[in-house]
Amino acid sequence: MVHADRLLNTPESGAVHQATNNSVLFEYKDAQDLVDVFQGKKAGHVYSRSSSGSNVALQNILTHLEGGVGAITFATGMAAITATMFSLFKAGDHLIVSHFLFGNTRSFTETMQSMGIELSFVDVTDVQNVKAAFKTNTKAVYLETIANPVTQVADLRAIGQLCESRKALFLIDNTMTPPNIFDANAVLASLTISSLTKYIAGHGNVLGGSVVDTGLFDWSSFDNILPIYRGPDQTQWGLTQIRKRGLRDMGGTLSPDSAHAISIGLETLVMRTEKVCENAMRLASYLHSHDKVSAVYYPGLADHPQHFLAREYFDGYGGILSLDLADDIDPIQFLNALDLVICATHLGDTRTLALPVASTIYFESSAQQRQEMGVNDKMIRMSIGIEDIDDLVADFEQAFAEF
Ligand SMILES: *Cc1c(COP(=O)(O)O)cnc(C)c1O
Repeated sequence: MVHADRLLNTPESGAVHQATNNSVLFEYKDAQDLVDVFQGKKAGHVYSRSSSGSNVALQNILTHLEGGVGAITFATGMAAITATMFSLFKAGDHLIVSHFLFGNTRSFTETMQSMGIELSFVDVTDVQNVKAAFKTNTKAVYLETIANPVTQVADLRAIGQLCESRKALFLIDNTMTPPNIFDANAVLASLTISSLTKYIAGHGNVLGGSVVDTGLFDWSSFDNILPIYRGPDQTQWGLTQIRKRGLRDMGGTLSPDSAHAISIGLETLVMRTEKVCENAMRLASYLHSHDKVSAVYYPGLADHPQHFLAREYFDGYGGILSLDLADDIDPIQFLNALDLVICATHLGDTRTLALPVASTIYFESSAQQRQEMGVNDKMIRMSIGIEDIDDLVADFEQAFAEF
C-alpha cells in the first residue's frame, strides 16, 4: 500500500515522493494529443479541476487499498457525497437511506428531497426494514458502516445481497471503517464514499473525500448513465459520469497539495487504526463498568446490539465511542474537567477528541430526528486517538473525581 502511488506515475529523478505540481494548465506540443486527451482516447491532464498528478497518485493508492476498479478524489467528504448523489440520481428516483447519518449528510438529504429525489429513511441494522422500503423506482441504498454517534452497525452483507438481487446500487460511506478494517467487496458494495479528512489522512491538517468503485455493480442495468459516458469498459461508466458531472461540472476539486498531504497521512493508516481500535476497546471496557456512566456505545462491547455484526464485518471496532453520563453530571462541566482529551468537533485524529452531541452536531435536528438517531441530551461522543491508554484512563479518573 505504501508504494501504490508509484504504480502509474514514475517519480522524477529518484524522488520517492510524488512531486506536487500546482499547474492548472497542461501544454500539448501536438494539438491532436490535446484533442485525444479531451476525448478520453489518451491518458493525460487538460485542466486541474478535472485531474492532476497528485490526485491521480492518491486515487491509485485508494483504488489499490479498496481492491476497486477506480477512484475519484474531492475537496471534502461532503463534496464526494453531494457530487455522487447529484450526478447519479434525478428527480423521480427513489433512494433508501439510513436513519443514522452523519449530521451534514442528513441535512443534505433535505436538499435532495427539495430537488425531487424521493427518500425513505430506515433503520438499517435489520435488512427487513430495507426490504420493506423497496419500490419500483428504487435506485440505491445509502448507509454508513458504523453510525456516528450511537455506533449502530448496518446489516451490511444482507443489504448487499438484497441490492444485488434488486439491481440497486449499494452506496456505503465507510469513513468510520477504512479499508484496512473493512472489506467493502465482501458485503457487495457498489461504491464506497469516504471522508479522507478522518482516518485516511489522520492528522487534522487537511480536508478530502473520495469515491471508489468496487467493480461489482453491473452499470448496464442502471438507466441513469448518459449515452456519452457508456464507453467500452463498462466498469468505468459510473465513475466516468461522476467524474464529468460531479467533479468537472460541480468543481469540488481536491488541491494537489492536499492530495499529497493525504497520501503522506495514509502511509501510517494501518498502525494508527490498530492503536485507535485497541485504545477504544480498553477505554470502552473501563467506562462500561464505571458507576458515573449510564451507557456506553461501542460495537466492540459484547452487549452492543449489533456486536455480532461488527465482529463479522470489521477487523477492529473503530475509534468512535459515545457515552451517556449519569443523570447528575452535566456534559459541559464534565468536558471542561478533562485535561488531555480535547473538546473539538472532528474524528479520526491522532488525538482523543470529545464533544456534547445534542447541542452541537445535531442542534439543527428536531427532537424527533434526534430520537430516531438514538441521540439523547446526556451524550458525549469521543473519537479515540493513539495516546498511551494509561494517560487516557488517568484523565477520566481525575475528571470523574470532580463529580
Ligand atoms: C466527516 C464525515 C463526512 C464529511 O466529510 P468532510 O471531509 O468533513 O466533508 C461524511 N461522512 C462521515 C461519516 C463523516 O464522518
